[in-house]
Amino acid sequence: MGKPHVLLIPFPAQGHVIPLMELALNLAKHGFKVTFVNTEFIYEQVINALPGTENVQELIQMVSLPDGLESSDNRSEFGKLSESILDVMPGELNALIERINGSESEKISSLIADAAMGWALEVAEKMGIKKVAFWPAAAALLALLFKIPSLIDDGIIDSDGKPMKNQKIQLSPTMPVMKTMDLYWSCINDELTRKLFFKLLIKIVRPTKSADRLISNSSYWLESGTFASYPDILPIGPLLASNRLGKSTGYFWREDSGCLAWLDQQPPDSVIYVAFGSLTVFDNNQFQELALGLELTDRPFLWVVRQNITEDVDNAYPTDFEERVQHQGRMVSWAPQQKVLSHPSDACFISHCGWNSTIEGISNGIPFLCWPYFTDQIFNKGYICDYLKIGLELNKDDNGIIRCGEIKNKLERVLGDEGLKERVLDLQAKILSGVREGGSSYKNFNDFVAWIKD
Ligand code: UDP
Repeated sequence: MGKPHVLLIPFPAQGHVIPLMELALNLAKHGFKVTFVNTEFIYEQVINALPGTENVQELIQMVSLPDGLESSDNRSEFGKLSESILDVMPGELNALIERINGSESEKISSLIADAAMGWALEVAEKMGIKKVAFWPAAAALLALLFKIPSLIDDGIIDSDGKPMKNQKIQLSPTMPVMKTMDLYWSCINDELTRKLFFKLLIKIVRPTKSADRLISNSSYWLESGTFASYPDILPIGPLLASNRLGKSTGYFWREDSGCLAWLDQQPPDSVIYVAFGSLTVFDNNQFQELALGLELTDRPFLWVVRQNITEDVDNAYPTDFEERVQHQGRMVSWAPQQKVLSHPSDACFISHCGWNSTIEGISNGIPFLCWPYFTDQIFNKGYICDYLKIGLELNKDDNGIIRCGEIKNKLERVLGDEGLKERVLDLQAKILSGVREGGSSYKNFNDFVAWIKD
């Protein structure tokens, strides 16, 4: 008998592709044949960013499908991209599975789809193969997704997801309190994008709920209250490259690994790591204020300045900034973040609080200085600062800007707060024990593997 064959499909965004590729590699290690489906656009990026030495493609079969847009189209227009995906990709995926099953001896028996690609679960359902929903954010937010219909019925939000009033809700007594203004679909400034995002969420409730298994990149140790109330959601995380003694993969941009050698030269527990994930775009004033704040700290810093991180790309830095900080800090366009966070020189993580960054920071015992932008980042910031108490938040002034003085002062507070450090180290020990033999995520993952193979 051949290997069991599983197909995985992420939403085409960096924070979705990385954890699903990690899952794919774990499944390959457990003896699965794995087909990993990216959109053509993302496929090109991922393949181009793989270092020459990477053997990922020996472990998983990387394939691509069209997303229905032209190569010149702007894929950061969320509504356009998700509508096009929905028009084109179900038929393409169906045909791909039929092609594989018609020509390969190892037929696809299970499909693992990012919940944001709920339509793929419907394809699996029609084709009679096992369907698994993967949730790449906090599990509490999956519970919230399931609650959307009753939030509408109870008049807490309208049918576009807009809160009827500012109030606090709690999905169960063991779960964190949420403010309706902070619900992840509410935290998008652009009204049209907010509506389209909510429309997508409504569409994925049913297929996600009716998946045969729900797995999440989280840990009992992070969200025990949620898992107690929603036992169908199985935490199998954190999915990290270090848990399988490998390098992280699935990057859209080539990493600047030179920054690791730079970190080697810094004293232990001294460096401020500054990164805002793959999507955040800065207003130029704010970007300059951050630059000045980092300079003012007088501490070594490693700052990820992604291509196009500012609105005005040509005049990003304050005058002479790069010259002044050349012995203090280092700017890179993309860092091997998981490696950076595990480096002994790191002292603090200035983060936008994307879920992957959140669990990566915790897994490495690094306290946070939080600078969330939108969607689930606001909720994650609440987790970090109020619920887990492992970080502090940066505050804006009356003009909506986080000033350089605020950055310096809060940073000093984070670094001087032994309690934050103790709690994050304690949490690190717990969540890492969860993925080791006998741990809760380890056990869930192994039970899951046994179920797919069955
Ligand atoms: N990341 C990275 N290098 C960078 C910046 C980010 O490897 O320079 C990775 C990071 O480790 C995480 C992902 O990109 O796995 C970003 O996901 P997250 O959920 O934190 O944020 P998003 O990009 O979805 O906003």
